Amino acid sequence: MFETLSDRLNKIFDNLRRRGKLSEADVDAVMREVRLALLEADVHYSVVKDFVARVRARSIGAEVSKALNPAQQVIKIVNEEMIGTLGEPARLNLAGPKPWLVMIVGLQGSGKTTAAAKLARLLRSQGERVMLVAADPYRPAAIKQLQTLGERVGVPVFTEDGVNPPELAAHAFDQARKGGYTVVILDTAGRSQLDDQLMDELRSISRKVTPTDTLLVIDSMIGQEALHVAEGFRDTVSLTGLVLTKMDGDSRGGAAISIRSVTGVPIKFLSTGEGVDALESYDPRRLASRILGMGDVIGLIEKAEAAYDEQSARDQAKKMMKGDFTLEDFAQQLRQIRKMGPFQQILDMLPGNLGQAARNIDPKDAEKSLKVTEAILSSMTQAERHDPDILNASRRRRIARGSGTEVQDVNRILKQFRETQRMVKTLQKTGGRGMPRMFG
Ligand code: GDP
Repeated sequence: MFETLSDRLNKIFDNLRRRGKLSEADVDAVMREVRLALLEADVHYSVVKDFVARVRARSIGAEVSKALNPAQQVIKIVNEEMIGTLGEPARLNLAGPKPWLVMIVGLQGSGKTTAAAKLARLLRSQGERVMLVAADPYRPAAIKQLQTLGERVGVPVFTEDGVNPPELAAHAFDQARKGGYTVVILDTAGRSQLDDQLMDELRSISRKVTPTDTLLVIDSMIGQEALHVAEGFRDTVSLTGLVLTKMDGDSRGGAAISIRSVTGVPIKFLSTGEGVDALESYDPRRLASRILGMGDVIGLIEKAEAAYDEQSARDQAKKMMKGDFTLEDFAQQLRQIRKMGPFQQILDMLPGNLGQAARNIDPKDAEKSLKVTEAILSSMTQAERHDPDILNASRRRRIARGSGTEVQDVNRILKQFRETQRMVKTLQKTGGRGMPRMFG
């Protein structure tokens, strides 16, 4: 799903990762890709224009974060703006006197009936007493379909012959109240396109029974058309939420962004399959990450930021420049990495080529070697950490014993430390250029 967007961004970010600093031209190049990718994903051009302008302004004016490289910083901004555009997570209104009434509206084939049954199942599992209502008395097939689904999810289906939909809805509501039901879900009639008769009918039902929630079901595969449909329904009944269906398909995802941004109606659920359990509560962070297709690189960025301790970094940098990078600093760097979580988790979060390469590392080995290093360092005295030159054979033996390792392990760590120290010396000479980045 959303292949184009993630491919495009990955390609451009691969190039940017190698840069030390972003120029305005770099930012322009990224924005061009973001714009094209969103347009190809069927996002409405006016939405794209605003989005790109916001990201661009923030990228150029962004304060240079010490925890992130420039590419990570742009990804972070794109992600944050995407989440902002997709809106807050929204839940059903479910409040006030019961039974609550959820009216489901949408075009024929959008997945309306399936969504009604899925929602019934979800609410039932949360302890509600749910009644489904087939409020489309003109189409026997639709009634039959809801009855079949109702049986599957263990929820009774109310229907009635020979009355119009508003009356039918009112009768169902009465019956639910008397029967001690807590939620009534109305599956209304659908047409193949927006038409006045359908809109009149929905308006009448809405006036007659006053829904707690009116959810519009939209097929995410219909692209740009989705926006038109959403606007049509919004102008007729007051929508309280959207259910985007067929998100498991080859959908471009643009519908979600446009509809939310243009109509202001919050997305409440995503439907991700034909099975009655394939309904997700909407989470903008998850959807943004799916649309961007950046793996969990965003999670990695957030962790790196959280683990980054400005003060200790500043102190370390100062020390490095003075030339006394000690084992103490080495130990501190390890703790910094440690704060990011288990090694496996860090490896899993690396995107693209980096992730591919990381899969060749055995996380168990890496984890073990990190633990060994930590144990050895903490078995040293402070004096030893400050001046490793005093580590003679007997001290090394003591450290090995104390950390449950072998003398060879201690020697290996000391060698690694010397290498790091040498690297630091080189850095001092080059003034920081060519500094290897932990995630770059
Ligand atoms: P309605 O006419 O709006 O009531 O639509 P239906 O509920 O009958 O759904 C139309 C078709 O889409 C059916 O074949 C459903 O199984 C299928 N469908 C509904 N939701 C989803 C979904 O999220 N993913 C997939 N792949 N198919 C879905």
